[in-house]
Amino acid sequence: MNKQILLNSRPEGRPALKNFQIEEIEEVKNGEIVLESKFISVDPYLRGRMRDEKSYIEPFKVGEPLESMVIAEVKNSSHSDFKKGDHIMGMLDWKKQQSHSGKDLRKIDPSIAPLSAYLGVLGLTGLTAYLALHKIGILKKGETLLVSGAAGAVGSVVGQIGKIKGCRVVGIAGSDEKIDHIQEKFSFDAGINYKTTEDMTQAIKEACPDGVDVYFDNVGGEILDAALQNINKAARIINCGAISIYNETEIPKGPRPEGILIKKSALMQGFLVRDHVADYQKAISDLAGWLNSGKLKYDETIVEGFEQTPQAFIDIFDGKNFGKMVVKV
Ligand code: NAP
Repeated sequence: MNKQILLNSRPEGRPALKNFQIEEIEEVKNGEIVLESKFISVDPYLRGRMRDEKSYIEPFKVGEPLESMVIAEVKNSSHSDFKKGDHIMGMLDWKKQQSHSGKDLRKIDPSIAPLSAYLGVLGLTGLTAYLALHKIGILKKGETLLVSGAAGAVGSVVGQIGKIKGCRVVGIAGSDEKIDHIQEKFSFDAGINYKTTEDMTQAIKEACPDGVDVYFDNVGGEILDAALQNINKAARIINCGAISIYNETEIPKGPRPEGILIKKSALMQGFLVRDHVADYQKAISDLAGWLNSGKLKYDETIVEGFEQTPQAFIDIFDGKNFGKMVVKV
């Protein structure tokens, strides 16, 4: 039986299960390419697409299927580039089966890495970590790199690249278990649990005694404010994500950053991975090289069952994931 997941209503504040609808649809037998979904990526940015707002990507429409990066197996194909049994990744509907024209699908090789890794460390989150650091962070040996969302898909790769480049790496995450984990598994030098820390500015000061040269921001809000209080001269601040405000109905006001940016001659720059498609191949080859040599490790939280996709998405906002949150269909 085929199924799809629709946006039932636009979330106000935190997303909830009532915002999604799962329905049975007809099996797909014919089409240029017939795909069977294997792994679905759930990502924080999908929350932005649930708002009725113009952005860098089209908003989802109420009553229509949601979409994200999906790994699928080709079940049938009359397309010359794809044959039965191939594995592909692409921006696909949240459906168990679907037909496709083949446009923008990319073949992936399960003999190089497990299929799900193509949604994380060898997919958009790994690319985001690598490319944002290379384009904006430009790490120098001996510098201090601070990263928030440090136990997540992007943040855990950011920290490890920092170690590969010879930096002191400090991570911010939402539980003691995550802080222990990033130090033990990924060799972070120190960590701060933002949920149990009252004064983040002071905690960052203590964890980064030489100040912060690069702040990789995955969360925005008050953690960004605290990081800015600790930046060094010529620091680079990468605005990669702002999950702490994705569910806000009104954007909270904060301290103004211009004074500190001027005083420190600092650079603060937004980053969108999709602006750097031309650099993907080189980045993937470096990431795969580090994976094979054991320099880079990764976590994934794999939730089983297509019907669990909405809950897996909601759980990201409670920090239930270590590394990439993925649904195994
Ligand atoms: P992720 O870090 O694997 O998962 C999100 C994590 O954010 C959660 O596990 C949770 O961990 C933390 N979090 C949730 N609510 C929070 C809050 N209110 N304050 C602080 N932390 C909170 O997600 P990801 O896919 O790697 O993405 C990380 C960030 O990068 C997101 O903001 C995402 O939108 C962004 N991103 C940007 C691009 C781009 O091109 N710019 C590409 C990919 C991702 P804790 O337990 O630590 O709270």
